[in-house]
Amino acid sequence: MSDDQAAPKLKSHGRLSMQASLKPRDLMADVVVRGAWAAHVITLLPEAFPGVLGQSLTGRALDLGLWRLNTIDLRTFGIGKHRNVDDTPAGGGAGMVLRADVVDAALNAAGQGLPVICLSPRGRRFDQAMAQTWAAGPGVTLLCGRFEGVDQRVLDHRRIAEVSLGDFVLTGGEIAAQAMLDATVRLLPGVLGNRASTEEESFSHGLLEHPQFTRPAVWEGHEIPAVLQSGNHGEISKWRQAQAEALTKDRRPDLWDAFGRR
Ligand code: SAH
Repeated sequence: MSDDQAAPKLKSHGRLSMQASLKPRDLMADVVVRGAWAAHVITLLPEAFPGVLGQSLTGRALDLGLWRLNTIDLRTFGIGKHRNVDDTPAGGGAGMVLRADVVDAALNAAGQGLPVICLSPRGRRFDQAMAQTWAAGPGVTLLCGRFEGVDQRVLDHRRIAEVSLGDFVLTGGEIAAQAMLDATVRLLPGVLGNRASTEEESFSHGLLEHPQFTRPAVWEGHEIPAVLQSGNHGEISKWRQAQAEALTKDRRPDLWDAFGRR
């Protein structure tokens, strides 16, 4: 870091958040001491957080200190007066690439205790099993790319895993980070009122979830399936299982194949 470097801009959200003036190194100490699941997000758009994660169940959990969110503003690690974070791609071509040295400095500020993930369309596809793995750990550090992405050398040097939200290209990693954090945080103890709801839902048993219905009993002439109103829990459970299997077979042959092999 050069001498004219401003203090890194760190922002934390939630009840157990620490002061913004704390040095990056203290950030990890804080996580270890307090033990709450932690997300560190390195981004050029810190104002985009907590975003939707600050709402509803994930927002309430943040307020309660069931998890913590720290944003690390990549811009503060930029080079020179203009805090440059990017440069043109080696070999030519459109767009800009985030510099390895700048990203490396931001990763140092995030500390070492958490697995680091770079959001990338070239990464392994995020799924429910990954959300479960992340939720079972101490937290994650997410690196949000922008422009054409991140200089490959810093990813290779630090052996950073790349994870994708899906087979499409976003303008930056922030929406992907929020989606993945939402999927992970809702699995943390106490975040959803009713734990059983995460055990029965789509993907948890390798199947898509059965369809859901609620009042009114008749809507526009369409009735709720009679079995769901029978009060017979054995029959309801069988019906739901059959629906889940039929739906998965029809819509997701890939999941159905995997289910058959379990
Ligand atoms: N040139 C790159 C795309 C860059 S998009 C390519 O063709 O592979 C800019 C940034 O948005 C990426 O660095 C990444 O952090 C984020 N991003 C885009 N699509 C994404 C996806 N499907 N999943 C996760 N992150 C994504």
